[in-house]
Amino acid sequence: MRVAAALARKQKAYSLTSFDGFGLNEAITRAIAEEKYASPTPIQVQTIPIVMSRRDVIGIAQTGTGKTAAFALPILHQLAAQARPPERKSCRILVLSPTRELSGQILASFRAYGRHLRIRTALAIGGVPMGGQVRALLDGVDVLVATPGRLLDLVKSNALRLGGVELLVLDEADRMLDMGFIHDIRKIVSKLPAKRQTLLFSATMPGAIAELAAQMLRDPIRVAVTPVASTVERVEQRVVHVNRAAKPDVLVDVLRREPIDRALIFTRTKRGADKVVRGLIKAGITAHAIHGNKSQSQRERVLAAFRRGDVTTLVATDIAARGIDVDGISHVVNFDLPDVPETYVHRIGRTARAGADGIAISLCDPEERALLHSIEKLIGKSISGNDSRVRPNRNAASNTHGRAGQRDTRSADKQKRRRETNVAHTSGRQEQTGESTDGIASVAFLRRSTRPPQQEAPRARRWSAQPKGSRHGQGRTPAI
Ligand code: AMP
Repeated sequence: MRVAAALARKQKAYSLTSFDGFGLNEAITRAIAEEKYASPTPIQVQTIPIVMSRRDVIGIAQTGTGKTAAFALPILHQLAAQARPPERKSCRILVLSPTRELSGQILASFRAYGRHLRIRTALAIGGVPMGGQVRALLDGVDVLVATPGRLLDLVKSNALRLGGVELLVLDEADRMLDMGFIHDIRKIVSKLPAKRQTLLFSATMPGAIAELAAQMLRDPIRVAVTPVASTVERVEQRVVHVNRAAKPDVLVDVLRREPIDRALIFTRTKRGADKVVRGLIKAGITAHAIHGNKSQSQRERVLAAFRRGDVTTLVATDIAARGIDVDGISHVVNFDLPDVPETYVHRIGRTARAGADGIAISLCDPEERALLHSIEKLIGKSISGNDSRVRPNRNAASNTHGRAGQRDTRSADKQKRRRETNVAHTSGRQEQTGESTDGIASVAFLRRSTRPPQQEAPRARRWSAQPKGSRHGQGRTPAI
């Protein structure tokens, strides 16, 4: 019974970082499983729920971030939820992309993710005879992926009507602009129904794209994935190796010791966020949680207080945190490490905004080591475990909130730790030295910078950037 409950808890804990948490149609999640995508990428985590809620989206994301699935999956979900035969010579979903190659890849993605659904798709690109495309559109399609020029040719020759489009995707909008498609896009959009959903993706947001978005989108939600390099360089990153049970105490200690303006703490689950808040309040630290179980007005109130600086400690899940656009976050604390390495970069990007420096501290328990290694691989460096928190008992911990008082005990601890760490290295065993009475004394630290990451098997295949050609195995470009 207890085992079953623990298992259920564990499954729930991971559901938010798996595709199951979105509530996508079962036929789609099956296809994702067949694609062997273990967890959604950050752009997918942010975008899928917004598209499912029928809101317009401006997505700042580059190719390679998983952005195609970020829009294709919820679109397929909508089509499955409202299945009906498309009208003749029309399409329900129109995806505009700058190049033939990208258009082909997008279509391949729709076909791969929608392989268990009855979805009609077509491609309209230049450089091939129009006849086949005209024929494919005769009975209408659900999804049409097109380059702007050929699309207009098809419209001009009465092979396609755009009055039935329910959703428009503008992919790689900045590239379309660079390639001179802006007038074609305006012409196409003028033929679409005003009442539609629009998703715009762009790697950058120059003024012209912002202007285009302002004209074509209705009250859009902006999502962004932070470019890896710039964030990682500006944020001071540390890891504290800690037993799971000691995390709440270590967190309290971190918050008391660090010079915090605003701290954003990430947990994997909503329940976890609430638990962390309870622990902090018990320790006398005012904190609030922000996650999907909180009402919109609750979330807005807490966020406003966080922005004003009335609340300085916020605990959030990744999905809830996507709406947090606050400057002046001095610290990001990963109470749980994220399952997806890119999410780490996104999390720590909350600090170091507008060129400011920030500090990111990750509490890593033994089960999270493989996650830490994936993160280190992604950012191309090891994160140092230079924080010292080994103390003989909790009373000592509560007395050491000032930095000066810790120095003496620290140097002795340092030596002890060095001995422990060396033993751990030479014997190849885990760094944790077992439970102690206060739960903190068991924290040990690795000198990661001198050690290559251990070859631990990841818990599941995780997101990692793949070369373009690896998309769905073959990189096929179907033609119609
Ligand atoms: P994109 O950014 O859409 O061009 O996607 C880049 C590559 O990532 C493609 O080969 C996709 O098949 C792959 N991909 C997309 N989402 C995931 C995921 N959640 N896990 C693993 N691979 C993914």
